[in-house]
Amino acid sequence: MPSDRSTPRKVVIVGAGAVGATFAYALAQSGAANSICLIDQNQKLAEGQVADLSHGLPYYPSVSITNGTTEDYGDAQVVVITAGSAQRPGETRLDLLKRNASIIEGIMDEIIEQQSRAIVVIVTNPVDVLTQVALRHSRWSRSHIFGSGTVLDSARFRYFISQEMGVDVKSVHAYILGEHGDSELPAWSLTNLGGVAIQQYVKSNGLQEQWPKRSREIFEAVKNSAYHIIDYKGATNFAVGQALVRIVQAILRDSHSVLTVSIQLRGEYGIEGVCLSVPCIVSKDGVEKVLVADLSEEEQQALKHSASVLKDSMKGLLE
Ligand code: NAD
Repeated sequence: MPSDRSTPRKVVIVGAGAVGATFAYALAQSGAANSICLIDQNQKLAEGQVADLSHGLPYYPSVSITNGTTEDYGDAQVVVITAGSAQRPGETRLDLLKRNASIIEGIMDEIIEQQSRAIVVIVTNPVDVLTQVALRHSRWSRSHIFGSGTVLDSARFRYFISQEMGVDVKSVHAYILGEHGDSELPAWSLTNLGGVAIQQYVKSNGLQEQWPKRSREIFEAVKNSAYHIIDYKGATNFAVGQALVRIVQAILRDSHSVLTVSIQLRGEYGIEGVCLSVPCIVSKDGVEKVLVADLSEEEQQALKHSASVLKDSMKGLLE
């Protein structure tokens, strides 16, 4: 449903910090957008980023890059919200909650005021809870507001598996589900290398003995990636920028891609009213379908546990 008045392939990015600016750069290079607007409460930062990005215009596919105002929400096809505070060293994502919830509500008010029908993608952490906050505040449909969820974590998972197995990362199909955070889980039962189930691959390559330990280490590496990178360089920005291009391309190109975005579940997987990541089909209308995968019993329990962790943090917000 973006309305007729939305400008095709116009993307507004709110938050021109490390994530927003890197995403803008990757999006400009992708050729997927016609128009990219950057908005930040720090006007000088937004202006500086737009100037720097624009000086690369001779070398990108055709695109306009501008410093936006809230009026730009009115005809945007997609709004991506990266505004907020970044995770600080040693800080959990859930610690960020209260600081960022009021920022998201304020931005949603501005989007609604412009009668925008854009698809809204929340990136600010804790992304699952803030997606829930945005949904509750706006009363929009769940297909129109969703979070970037574990699209990044799934990319990390694929990368670490590909490194371990020596197989092209593009041939590794693997998903991290649940919270984008500490209670997330690896869906090993859905993992395959070019269609060969990971368990079968491990068996036929004589790796069974070390696999229980290595598979735990791979998941730990995925889960701790953000903490390590933030510790080393203060923020994560490149891979998340690419993950956001992937999500936004699915909307702009109406590609019906399967992505683990954070969506409010309505009974799927036995979970009600919590936003978390499961495989979804993403197209021009946002989340077109929530896929119900055949998870193992252990994975189903872990997904429910992740939902209860998120429900508790929602309660924390209401206190
Ligand atoms: P940053 O501090 O570099 O940038 C955030 C920007 O938001 C700042 O420039 C700030 O001025 C702006 N801002 C704050 N309030 C605003 C408002 N009301 N309106 C407009 N702009 C506002 O932080 P960053 O490193 O870019 O990270 C941004 C967010 O993305 C953080 O919450 C971070 O945790 C999150 N993140 C999410 C993922 C993911 O996969 N979901 C990955 C990486 C980072």
